[in-house]
Amino acid sequence: MTSETEGPPLVCPSCATPHGPDERFCSECGTPLVFAPSADAPAPMTEAQERARKIKPQFAEGELIRVVGGRNLTEAEFLQGLLLEEGVPSMLRRSRGFDVPDFLAAGPRDVLVPANGFAAAREILLQADLLSSEVPTGPAPLKLLAGLLVAFGVVGAIAWAISGSL
Ligand SMILES: [Zn+2]
Repeated sequence: MTSETEGPPLVCPSCATPHGPDERFCSECGTPLVFAPSADAPAPMTEAQERARKIKPQFAEGELIRVVGGRNLTEAEFLQGLLLEEGVPSMLRRSRGFDVPDFLAAGPRDVLVPANGFAAAREILLQADLLSSEVPTGPAPLKLLAGLLVAFGVVGAIAWAISGSL
């Protein structure tokens, strides 16, 4: 009963030759051996697969509707992650009027969800008290304002440099 294999089997990642647990390098090609993937340990999921697994199909159909907005890309991605945790897929779009490259990551984003997921998304955002985040309150907007001022400052500096060189 104890003559079974001790520990997980080793295999050469290069030529797939199996080796005993005492070996460290492949006897065929010298490549350091790795543990052979066992049947009950599935390969780690990629980020895309992980995302796809979380999405509930009943929320994934219908026309895309704006459900909430993020003040910048980071905030929009946070909202997107929150919705995904509850199975609602979403996509981001630059908010109207800010779809110019000058804003880069600083520009606000709309979070769009499929029509079937809209009610669920509203519920998630309400429970997380995030629908009110559309109205700038508290100290957070100051940070954004600073970011925007920096962005405008850069644009202004470029404009100044161009007009100065004419
Ligand atoms: Zn080998």
